[in-house]
Amino acid sequence: MTDTHPDSPAPLDRLIDGYRRFRTTGWAPNRERWATLNEGQQPEVMVIACSDSRVDPSQIFDVDPGDIFVVRNVAALVPPFETSPGHHGVSAALEFAVQVLKVKEVVVMGHGLCGGCKASLTQSLRGTEPGHGGFIADWISLLDDARETVAHEHGTEGRDAERAMELAAVRVSLDNLMTFPCVRSKVANGSLKLRGAFFAISDGLLHVLDESTGEFAPAV
Ligand SMILES: [Zn+2]
Repeated sequence: MTDTHPDSPAPLDRLIDGYRRFRTTGWAPNRERWATLNEGQQPEVMVIACSDSRVDPSQIFDVDPGDIFVVRNVAALVPPFETSPGHHGVSAALEFAVQVLKVKEVVVMGHGLCGGCKASLTQSLRGTEPGHGGFIADWISLLDDARETVAHEHGTEGRDAERAMELAAVRVSLDNLMTFPCVRSKVANGSLKLRGAFFAISDGLLHVLDESTGEFAPAV
């Protein structure tokens, strides 16, 4: 998808080439599976991931349609439980996953080289207008407290600081998940688990947050 030659097909036309392949290799041989899915979905896990084009959860976890319920946004963030005016898209998806689909786990997956986390670290969008960086600045202000700690310990430049920010962002989202009463009660009664993960683009390795140590370790 990197060819920008003026004669190359428009982006959607390229996608439709992929759709044709999908109809042949992904849909036709799996009609039974699709027929079952036609009756409803029962994913056991919700994944919250970044919108970054390089970190597609379905690809990383090699799952089939119906397996994971996914929300993607800038920096894979979960806002705290808020009833303020506005349109709470992540909260709506979370509510549906937890209360209607009754998923067993919610996984927050951060990633390496995250632009949203970097912008939090550098504060490069601070003071910009909505539509010119302001929406992003407001969104990633969810990380402001964590950013202070990271900046104090690692500075605001370089991969060490960026990685610390990326891992801290996962922890912020996990903490914010616990501010939702429906999540808190299900975690308390054992019917829901919250998990943290981190996919490093540079080496393709997935790390999982170990509850007992509080550290991210490579998935085995
Ligand atoms: Zn990202």
